[in-house]
Amino acid sequence: MPSYIAAIDQGTTSTRCLLFDHSGTIRAGAQQEHDQIFPKPGWVEHDADQIRRRMWSVVERALAEVDATAADIAAVGITNHRETAVMWDRSTGMPLTNAIVWQDTRTDRLCRELGGAFGPNRFAADTGLPLATYFTGPKVRWAIDNIPDVAAAAESGDLAVGTVDSWVVQNLSGGEAHVTDVTNASRTMLMHLGDLAWDPELCEAIGVPMESLPEIRSSSEVLATATGPLEGVPIAGILGDQQAALFGQACTEPGEAKSTYGTGAFMLLNTGTQRVGSDAGLLSTVAYRLGDEPAVYALEGSIAVAGSLVQWLRDNLGIIDSAPDVEDLALTVEDNGGVYIVPAFSGLFAPYWRDDARGVVTGLTGFATKGHFARAALEAVAYQTMDVLEAMHLDARVDLKSLKVDGGMVVNELLMQFQADILDLPVVRPEVIETTALGAAYAAGLAVGFWESVDEVRDRWAEDTRWTPAMDAGERERLVHGWKKAVDRTLDWVD
Ligand code: ADP
Repeated sequence: MPSYIAAIDQGTTSTRCLLFDHSGTIRAGAQQEHDQIFPKPGWVEHDADQIRRRMWSVVERALAEVDATAADIAAVGITNHRETAVMWDRSTGMPLTNAIVWQDTRTDRLCRELGGAFGPNRFAADTGLPLATYFTGPKVRWAIDNIPDVAAAAESGDLAVGTVDSWVVQNLSGGEAHVTDVTNASRTMLMHLGDLAWDPELCEAIGVPMESLPEIRSSSEVLATATGPLEGVPIAGILGDQQAALFGQACTEPGEAKSTYGTGAFMLLNTGTQRVGSDAGLLSTVAYRLGDEPAVYALEGSIAVAGSLVQWLRDNLGIIDSAPDVEDLALTVEDNGGVYIVPAFSGLFAPYWRDDARGVVTGLTGFATKGHFARAALEAVAYQTMDVLEAMHLDARVDLKSLKVDGGMVVNELLMQFQADILDLPVVRPEVIETTALGAAYAAGLAVGFWESVDEVRDRWAEDTRWTPAMDAGERERLVHGWKKAVDRTLDWVD
């Protein structure tokens, strides 16, 4: 048996390739950032061709680090930022336009039009999703309506559409496969959540030609064969990044949840083989499907801006030099000094779903310093997570004993302690915090027998650090009251 499983993690800000050994330990890894393209306020794009080149480069570097060749890799698994729409020419394999990224808000008017008299929940019963700029289907429709090359390809039948996983597999397989998995398909607004198939009525209503879409497969099965430096290696797993983190955190039983703090923040709760609808502003989504087994569903609270608020402090305000500096700056003050930041840069996602919201800073006085901004930015991430957990209580009546966390921000001690305090719940970080890549590796490894069973995945999960709540109830109530008022101030901003 070859020694490693390769995971390609195509994130919002970077592409990573990690090699995991049989114990689930990372043995090699390479990472490269890609450009974030902001053509207009609210628009976010990626150069799909740049992503293709960077993918090959990180794969080569990860292999070189341990002198591995394709023969040492048992399988490759993919995980990716979800909802982003990639459109390419089926005959040449070349992108027709930049990828339209999940944070992009250009479809706000289109989403309102699609909702019409039914409102934002027009397709919620079938898709588990409200009409919001977040999702893929309307992004593709926008491109067909506004980009002549995309329109021409749609007309001639040459248009190929996919989320980022499809783009990665298309390239990895040398153009052989146009596939996606159920988790990514469940974020497009084009798949029926019960049938796990593209829905002709949804495609017609949203305006996406069905023949442009990839084949929907399970999250763990041999999908295609890789080429290039991974020549001959089975591509054997795909999971959207948040679903991959849920799997990597071994949340495989109903009632188990995790929260990932990256560019955005995402809490997912495993609801088992039953899909649970939401009345409280959560998404109903596919958690994973292993081969022919029944699909497992999840409730999800998606927060658009988490780590990207720290990047904004760094890149737009210039008050820190690097993301980790935010903690030292926040520690220069004792508390938030009454300052709250609500980073509704792309409107508010869960549980509010308000495209008309925009970011605010409230409570400013002459006393406020950049330290308070740093503190308020970190606290905003914790408050948004609290809002989502409240919605999970309402929808699923779950009573978590602790919250498993992961993602780039969980090295931040101040944030993690504040999160435990404001939730009044222990926060637990596992030994392997690269849970997204690990989840994709597990999906691929299970498909080729590198790992035997889901029990093995559960046995390998190990706790590293625990933060215990230490804030008194009165203080928590006072702070949360301020947050709720600040959220109110963001609403009804965009006319
Ligand atoms: P993604 O997978 O979405 O690209 P990551 O999980 O790699 O994101 O996390 C990166 C995010 O974490 C960035 O937005 C960055 O600003 C933030 N971040 C990284 N280190 C810290 C830190 N020490 N404190 C706070 N935020 C951090």
